[in-house]
Amino acid sequence: MTRKILVTSALPYANGAIHLGHLVEYIQTDIWVRFQKMRGHECWYVCADDTHGTAVMLRAEAEGIAPEQLIERVKNEHMRDFAGFLVGFDHYHSTHAPEVHELAHLFYQRLTAAGLIEKRQVRQYYDPVKTLFLPDRFIKGKCPKCGAPDQYGDNCEQCGAAYAPTELKNPYSAVSGAKPELRDSEHYFFRLSDPRCEHFLRAYTSHANGVLQTEAANKLHEWLGEADEHLLTDWDISRDAPYFGFEIPDAPGKFFYVWLDAPIGYMGSFQHLCAREGLSFDEYFAPDSKAELYHFIGKDILYFHALFWPAELTHVGFRTPTKICAHGFLTINGAKMSKSRGTFITAASYLEQGLNPEWLRYYFAGKLSGGMEDIDLNLADFVARVNADLIGKYVNIASRTAGFLARRFDGKLLAADAKLLALSSVKTAAPRIAAHYEAREFSKAMREIMALADAANQYVDNVKPWELAKQADKDAELHLACTNSLNLFYRLTALLKPVLPALAEKAEAFLNIAPLVWTDTTALLPAGHTIRAYHHLMTRVDLKQVEALVAANRANLAPAPKTAKSAGTAAAETSGTIGIDDFLKVDLRIARIVEAAQVEGAEKLVRLVLDIGEEKPRQVFAGIKSAYDPAQLQGRLTVMVANLAPRKMKFGLSEGMVLAASDETGKTGGIYLLSPDAGATPGMRVK
Ligand SMILES: [Zn+2]
Repeated sequence: MTRKILVTSALPYANGAIHLGHLVEYIQTDIWVRFQKMRGHECWYVCADDTHGTAVMLRAEAEGIAPEQLIERVKNEHMRDFAGFLVGFDHYHSTHAPEVHELAHLFYQRLTAAGLIEKRQVRQYYDPVKTLFLPDRFIKGKCPKCGAPDQYGDNCEQCGAAYAPTELKNPYSAVSGAKPELRDSEHYFFRLSDPRCEHFLRAYTSHANGVLQTEAANKLHEWLGEADEHLLTDWDISRDAPYFGFEIPDAPGKFFYVWLDAPIGYMGSFQHLCAREGLSFDEYFAPDSKAELYHFIGKDILYFHALFWPAELTHVGFRTPTKICAHGFLTINGAKMSKSRGTFITAASYLEQGLNPEWLRYYFAGKLSGGMEDIDLNLADFVARVNADLIGKYVNIASRTAGFLARRFDGKLLAADAKLLALSSVKTAAPRIAAHYEAREFSKAMREIMALADAANQYVDNVKPWELAKQADKDAELHLACTNSLNLFYRLTALLKPVLPALAEKAEAFLNIAPLVWTDTTALLPAGHTIRAYHHLMTRVDLKQVEALVAANRANLAPAPKTAKSAGTAAAETSGTIGIDDFLKVDLRIARIVEAAQVEGAEKLVRLVLDIGEEKPRQVFAGIKSAYDPAQLQGRLTVMVANLAPRKMKFGLSEGMVLAASDETGKTGGIYLLSPDAGATPGMRVK
């Protein structure tokens, strides 16, 4: 039966470059879509740039251009990068488009009619200089938990604490530097807490309904709570002018929040495709649609896709998603990635350095599963895996025998030996591999395919065509050996085609065949079929190329963007390690706490006087008051950073920093000052 499937990837934000973290999702989705198309299903893959919001508005302003110009340029860059990695969208749209505008109005009108939109006063920070209500990420200040300066309004990058912007100490606008004022404004809310939404979502997100992965359904259960808990809260869907977005009808100066129109962008993009291809939009979006709707997303935007989005769809009168497939984040060399700081490997730099996009597609495929766990790109392993599997195993099968066939037999094949174990194993494995692709268990599929490639090479090793070629009476055997191995290559190419579409195209030209479809995985090339001359199909990765890539991204280290809407997958810190020289730059010394005292007017700080064997003791303000009574600190030894630039604080000069452990999540609030073992004396270097 031919399935009708509409597939989406999350919309990248029009405020920055595509990096390898993003590509996990687009490559994952693209492999799945290509597999469905090879199976003969009607499968459409749409996406769009997510263009609205304060971040885009301010970025355009900073560049001195209109937001429309900025989003146009970024969209072109995104499309270029996706094409470079062979991500085959059927249509790539923009949320700043008439289809999305119209649909956003429709959503608003129908939700209003259903009594699910409510107006409410909201008090939030306002930048009086910039005359702008400030989103959380545009307010900075001192962390209310650990006291770290210059933290964002929603969470602290030092201690990981999450809080409301109004809890920040000494808040300032990250746009103008002004002290923000609290002002009231009328906002529009989508009433997610309405019993109709809760009732619907309980059933829709249940394990039994099968829309979500097990881990995701667990998460949803956590958010929904037990039946009498009513944990869902209403969602603020409006923002005040100035804002780059769609104005709310009959509400001048109020705009739809960027997250309201982002998922509507999936539908707008598909509507555009329908007009172009003569498809029926209703066939895919009517409430009784038999078509399937798949959303591929990062696990960080599950809340938007599994709660708000289906609750809106069902009350607006559209169908809901068939499956929501969430994936984990990318780490590189085991290191966690941070976009706001980010050295990250951009898609463009990867291609500019001349690395083959299919190396990465294959490597990601080898790591991806149907679950939500993070995947790691280990750069040394990347080189080893690509060279061993793609060159050493797969391409090798063709290169070992193609020459003999061309020189000795005019490229003409015999009938292959269908009973040959290596060939029949491919036929047996193909349905299993198809099931892995369908379930997004790509790493399992790649493992099976490479085991089949091993068996194929084993066959060539056993028949030794290079020896048969030296014996005058072994022509028939040589001919059959070449035929068999090229049929093995043919079937394996079909199995790998969703992952390696460009390589498959070259192989199709070499094998002189029509574009491969899934049934080719179990078929044989007919006797008498003539193949073309063999040309090199793929080169090996050189570790030096990867090193050059990392160096190029270090050199490009852009200043941290002022803000970032969560862009799906996190960015890539390219190196998780530092050299010993970097470490030795930090002058760590044993210090004796000569004096410790409360600081008048400071909630968190203790003033320490530290002896590190210098003529004059140092003064340091430490945020440890919640854990230590100053009286108990006097006389004890600890470790301090002695070469930290002195910092002028409200209470005096701080001439260093003492080291303490704390719970990264900020949950326990515990702080544990370090102490050396007995025998250490003030001034000793720690290294
Ligand atoms: Zn903090």
